[in-house]
Amino acid sequence: MAEWQQTACILCSINCGIEVQTEAGHITKVRGDKAHPASEGYACEKPHQLDYYQNGRDRLSSPLRRRADGSYEEIDWDTAISEIAARFVALRGEHGGESILYYGGGGQGNHLCGGYGRATRAAIGSVYASNALAQEKTGEFWVDGQLFGRARCHTTGDFENAEVAVFLGKNPWFSHGFPRARVVLKEIAKDPNRSLIVIDPRRTETAAMADYHLQVRPGTDAFCLSALLAITLEENLVDQDFVRDHTNGLGEVAEILRNVPIAEYSARCDVPEELLRTVARRIAQSSSTSIFEDLGIQQAPHSTLNSYLEKLLYLITGNFAKEGAMNIHSRFASLGGGRSPGVEPTSPVGGHRIITGLIPCNVIPDEILTDHPKRFRAALIESANPVHSLADSQRMREAFEALDFVVVIDVAMTETARCADYVLPASSQYEKWEATFFTLEFPKNDFQLRAPIFDPLPGTLPEPEIHSRLIHAIGALQEEDLAPLHAAAKQGRAAYAAAFFAALSEKPHLKPLASVVLYDTLGPTLPRRAGEAAAVWALAHTCAMEYPDSLRRAGFEGEGLDLGEALFDALLERPSGVIFTVDDYDETWRRVLTPDRRINLVVEPLLEEFRSLRGERTQAANPEFPFVLCAGERRSFTANTIFRDPGWRRKDANGALRLNPDDAARLGITAGGEAMITTRRASLRTSVEISDTLRPGHATLPNGLGLAYPTEDGGQQTRGVAPNELTASEDRDWFAGTPWHKYVPARIEAA
Ligand code: SF4
Repeated sequence: MAEWQQTACILCSINCGIEVQTEAGHITKVRGDKAHPASEGYACEKPHQLDYYQNGRDRLSSPLRRRADGSYEEIDWDTAISEIAARFVALRGEHGGESILYYGGGGQGNHLCGGYGRATRAAIGSVYASNALAQEKTGEFWVDGQLFGRARCHTTGDFENAEVAVFLGKNPWFSHGFPRARVVLKEIAKDPNRSLIVIDPRRTETAAMADYHLQVRPGTDAFCLSALLAITLEENLVDQDFVRDHTNGLGEVAEILRNVPIAEYSARCDVPEELLRTVARRIAQSSSTSIFEDLGIQQAPHSTLNSYLEKLLYLITGNFAKEGAMNIHSRFASLGGGRSPGVEPTSPVGGHRIITGLIPCNVIPDEILTDHPKRFRAALIESANPVHSLADSQRMREAFEALDFVVVIDVAMTETARCADYVLPASSQYEKWEATFFTLEFPKNDFQLRAPIFDPLPGTLPEPEIHSRLIHAIGALQEEDLAPLHAAAKQGRAAYAAAFFAALSEKPHLKPLASVVLYDTLGPTLPRRAGEAAAVWALAHTCAMEYPDSLRRAGFEGEGLDLGEALFDALLERPSGVIFTVDDYDETWRRVLTPDRRINLVVEPLLEEFRSLRGERTQAANPEFPFVLCAGERRSFTANTIFRDPGWRRKDANGALRLNPDDAARLGITAGGEAMITTRRASLRTSVEISDTLRPGHATLPNGLGLAYPTEDGGQQTRGVAPNELTASEDRDWFAGTPWHKYVPARIEAA
């Protein structure tokens, strides 16, 4: 019988541990890995289809160079690397490295490429970066920074133990977001002493299980949250002890809340006032409440304000730094873009706010399609498909086509790769050592370093090797830099550690190149041909230095460098992953990084928006675009776009538009029929599913559809609607620049 091998599911940010059997290069069987410390054998239906990723018909197996006529020719690796290095060096000389944008650096199961990509960025002088977080979470990160002192002070809910669980613009039944989501949801739903609260315009699968569903009018979350906060204040539900002992500024916030017209806001969000009052009381009177805010409010009007209001709700009710509530978690490493010394925290052309090192995704075309001298002129895009996944695909395509030079590193010929001058084929996420840095759990946080289960597809290279070759071709690393480290690595990791840290302090130019230095020198000496994991060694040490007590509670022993070595050894030896930190609830207070260790409730730049909600005019129905479209709903058979073969979808192959029955009847659309959906950007044909889970006037399209995929006879097929063909880049949050994918004005007609 075939052996079961431990690896991870790469289809959402939870990265459940799975075990797989393989045969002749195929993944033939999949099951949850009971030894994984967080998922404990849990897996949803999606990883059973992983072979559609591993053996996609559009896998790349040779570097490609674009010809003048737009077609591609295969070239060898040496030619590709030397030509790309020369072009980047020339661009750096002519326009400065800041003219080269770096986008991506990993999907939902491969983040090591981002670490190695940082070295290439440094070598070519690229200082500006972006990735998908800048169309999802940057507003929330910024608010965390204001409240708790640093954007890195990210909070997470303790849903396993919460008496009350609130999901705000989040359907964890399908989008998960915390380990064993469906098991935990069922446990809460069946326990009469616990409550499940969902705030969502659609009666989602999670909402259908909930004790309380606040079916808000799309785009009015800020009114709903303001009303909940105002009721909490009005009914004396504020946790006065918590607020007095741990926070500053409630007085200023309370002044705004006292002016909130609760009945009017309840009408605006279309949630009965009595239901709002019941929910506010349930949260405030619980022993613990955890809240998960997600894309439903983060990609909708007032998105940064929404994050602020959500956090105010759990803070003024004292649901922080205790079991079952919100806590600040440890992290194995940062997922942001990193801060480049000397770079203004705004984008070079439009002056848009850069948060956690990331330029807002929606403004990327504006930073290219201009004659401004500081415009981006080139891009290095890695493991990401911005032409498909970011707002306004048409404009994004136009922008990438307008660049002087584009390089894409990916496993498949994506929509973005089709805009590239060179496409470099990466080995798949199951053909190299990989890891994910979504380490968001509390009080136990886990990390899994996973070994390859296949040899690399011939012609492909793992990203660490690609970046190493690029850096050497650029001439950023010299043999004399590496020789002492090669020698030290032969003597063992203790000698290597001493030599490595000494080298970084003596030769500062090596610091930004550290990941590739590690790959080149430590990598060849690691057991099990784990060279690609070399950068994780340094991260294990950084993690041990940052959280020594939490590591010891997790069972790691040693002082100084020995502690980091113990963690790294465990990562190499335990294929199902490790718990790397165990925290007590007081640890959350030690992670509040404001100067006085108290939480700032006043987030000045958002107060004006908060106040002015009251005067905001209700949007009159727009006869041209009377519907609100949610462009990108997570469903049973949607995932990230690494699944390009539409064959993986067992149900709803074309990803139907969901429509309320009354709307469908009025428009003359029948179940299984077709409709035209029109926005300011495009008009596209789609199949229709009629569903009473939607409010009238609301429609949803799934994410991940509309990808071009080769047919068996050499043609191309595209199934379903690519949501971002319909979205507009100017529809975004005024503050963080996050898009309004969940609030797209649209018109729907029978086709
Ligand atoms: S899709 Fe997410 S929840 Fe489902 S098995 Fe994969 S990682 Fe786990």
